[in-house]
Amino acid sequence: MEAKRNPSVVIIGAGMTGILMTIKLREAGITDITLLEKSDRIGGTWRENTYPGVACDVPSHMYTYSFEPNPEWSNVFARGHEIQQYFQKVADKYGVSEKVRLNEAVISSVYKDGKWTVKTSKGDTIVADFVVSATGILHHPAKPDIPGIDTYAGTMFHTAEWDHSIDLRGKRIGVIGTGSTAAQVIPELVDMGAEVSVFQRTPQWIFKIPDGLYSEKMKERFRQNPNMMNRRRVWFTRSLEHIFTKAVIGRKVQRKIMEWGCKLNLRFSVKDPELRNKLTPDYQVGCKRLIINNTFYKAIQKPNAHLITEGIERIDETGIHTKDGQHHELDVIVLSTGFDPTAYMRPMNLVGKEDLNIDDAWRHKVRAYRSLMVPNYPNFFLMLGPNTPIGNFSVIAMSEVQSQYIIKLINRWRENLFDEVEATETAVDRFMAYIKAGLSSTVWVGGCKSWYLDADGDPILWPYTWGKWVKEMAEPNLADLSTRRVVAAPAIAAETQPMARGKKRKETVTAE
Ligand code: NAP
Repeated sequence: MEAKRNPSVVIIGAGMTGILMTIKLREAGITDITLLEKSDRIGGTWRENTYPGVACDVPSHMYTYSFEPNPEWSNVFARGHEIQQYFQKVADKYGVSEKVRLNEAVISSVYKDGKWTVKTSKGDTIVADFVVSATGILHHPAKPDIPGIDTYAGTMFHTAEWDHSIDLRGKRIGVIGTGSTAAQVIPELVDMGAEVSVFQRTPQWIFKIPDGLYSEKMKERFRQNPNMMNRRRVWFTRSLEHIFTKAVIGRKVQRKIMEWGCKLNLRFSVKDPELRNKLTPDYQVGCKRLIINNTFYKAIQKPNAHLITEGIERIDETGIHTKDGQHHELDVIVLSTGFDPTAYMRPMNLVGKEDLNIDDAWRHKVRAYRSLMVPNYPNFFLMLGPNTPIGNFSVIAMSEVQSQYIIKLINRWRENLFDEVEATETAVDRFMAYIKAGLSSTVWVGGCKSWYLDADGDPILWPYTWGKWVKEMAEPNLADLSTRRVVAAPAIAAETQPMARGKKRKETVTAE
């Protein structure tokens, strides 16, 4: 039997998706993998976000790799530091830690004739057959463009760049923003005795799911019987799939359940009608990403918490001026203002065919075929790209599906069916039309503003069911892809031998 070609693969980023991709490629028998990480530790989001209260609002037994259940989760919703430890442990167990090249950012990736040339911050150049961008979605802090922000003389930082050197106890802290992050951090600041002013531009819907501790006895049962964890994982996945996911894509009954859940939570958690009124959104539940939280409403009613809804006019040296003419003196300003979700691998210089830079390719719209592939960028995959079914669901589950899709295509390359594969422009147009058709019945187009929307106001989410996505991602549809031979097909090299590169034979073999 003929040996398969062994491709070289560069993976950019050693967060949840990069670790996963490395493990799955190895399982598939691919050994020439370079995993590059810009930071000094692996972990991505969970390395970067260390703000007080950081936790995952997807249930912990669902927020795990399917092949590596974790009996040690402390809570129904795992805390940030233990998620970071989990990824470290998995990376150690699967030999990813010893492979990853830390403190080495990718400066540029340039494609030419079947090869990617990747340059790193350490001055190294790697030539690879495939590049997988595993840089995540929410890692470019969005800093607000508020007049006077640069004149502030106190301490100011974004939640993803938390300054742990400052003792916040007893300080006057202004938190700008009321998203999922703010809902986690504000109760911690209030509990540590700070005087916390919350600057809310838009109220948010909050859904409560009890967050219990897993007892030692329970953890022991999980250790003894991993199937129990799997059952829990499946149960959470089904519940989220059939209630939350279906609610946001337009199923009436599920939408009502979510609406009732949020409204009752607000009604029973906040006693003062005036405060309740200020906390009541005027848009549909789920239009912005639903906040899953049990502590924010309690915290905002404490005497050292102040909800300010008048709108920020400007910032000066000592604090924040609101539109009602008030000046709020502050020692610290915390920017809980979210992220730029469509920056992806940038500022890396990504150059595809015909010297096309990604900034030019995406000048009019950030788009990708099946979230993963961009025309003119052959043998390049973008994990968690636009229209992945993000939202209140596990991004780990999504990444596992995407990793299998990528491996199926790489396997075809290994079988020597082509040297180059990319999505066609027509396929992307068709895919985007398909997405657009589904979006009209979703809750995201209800008129609210959120990070779900791109610059044109189009949601960057998947508007159909989770099941449909999994089904459609099960096999690459080769009719949507263009494949090409770049080098003369050599006698198949042995698994461990690098592929001989010979004469170019530019023959387009668009697959059936
Ligand atoms: P976010 O949801 O985008 O919220 C940003 C907040 O900042 C909003 O309240 C926004 O107000 C406000 N804001 C932005 N610019 C402002 C300005 N110039 N003036 C006043 N307010 C301004 O960001 P996030 O809370 O960091 O959450 C982002 C995402 O991270 C979440 O949706 C979630 O996907 C993820 N996350 C997940 C977890 C988890 O447990 N899994 C935890 C935290 C975060 P408007 O609403 O008016 O725009």
